[in-house]
Amino acid sequence: MSVKENLLAVKRQLPQGTELVAVSKFHPVDVVMQAYEAGQRIFGENRAQELVAKAPQMPDDICWHFIGHLQTNKVRQIIPYVSMIQSVDSVRLLQLINKEAQRIGRTVDVLLQLHVAQEEAKSGFAVDELLTVLTLGEMDGLEAVRIRGLMAMASLTEDEQQIEREFALVQHTFDVVKEEFFADANDFDQISMGMSHDWPIAVRHGSTLVRVGTAIFGPREY
Ligand SMILES: *Cc1c(COP(=O)(O)O)cnc(C)c1O
Repeated sequence: MSVKENLLAVKRQLPQGTELVAVSKFHPVDVVMQAYEAGQRIFGENRAQELVAKAPQMPDDICWHFIGHLQTNKVRQIIPYVSMIQSVDSVRLLQLINKEAQRIGRTVDVLLQLHVAQEEAKSGFAVDELLTVLTLGEMDGLEAVRIRGLMAMASLTEDEQQIEREFALVQHTFDVVKEEFFADANDFDQISMGMSHDWPIAVRHGSTLVRVGTAIFGPREY
C-alpha cells in the first residue's frame, strides 16, 4: 500500500470531529510530501532539530504539531514553525513557551500532557499533579499560549483493557479539568490520544486528534 492509500484508509475510519496528525518523524521530505499531496495538512514531529530542518522544505500551509519531550533550550528554535505544542509537561516549559511566543508576537496552541501509562519513562503530569497546578493558578495569566486540551499516550501493551482504562482516565480527567478550570473557554476542546496500534480505542474514548505514524508511512529506520 502507498502512503496515500494508507492515509486515506485511516481518514475514512475517523469519525467527524476527530482529526489526523500524520506523524512524519524519521521520514524524509519526499515521503512526507506524498501525504501532503493526498491532502494531509497536520504533521507531527518529536525532535526539535528535525522539525526545524524539515518545515522550511515543505509547504507553508502545513500545521506542525510538536509531540515529543521538549527541552527548554529548544523552545526558541521551534516556536516560529509550530502551530501546536502537544507535549507540555511542566509549568516551567509552559511559561517559557509563553515568553518565546510573546517575544515574536504570536500565540501558540498547547496541550498539557498527562501521564497515564505504566512506563515511568514517559513524561507528562500525573492527574493529581495537574489538578494541583491548576488549582494553584500556576498556569494562569499566560497571554501568548492557548491551552487547548490534553494529550496522552497509553502503555505499550497488548492488553487492550489496560489501554482502554488509560484512555478512559484521560477522557474523565479532560471532563473534570474542563468543568473546573476551563468552563468558559470554548477553545479547550482537544484530546490528543491514539497511535497506529491503538487509535480506534482512543476514538471510542473521545479522542479529537489521533497521532498516526507507522500505519501511514511504514516502519521508521532509527
Ligand atoms: C511516534 C509517535 C507517535 C506515532 O506512533 P506510531 O506508532 O508510529 O503511529 C504518536 N505519538 C507520539 C508522541 C510519538 O512520539
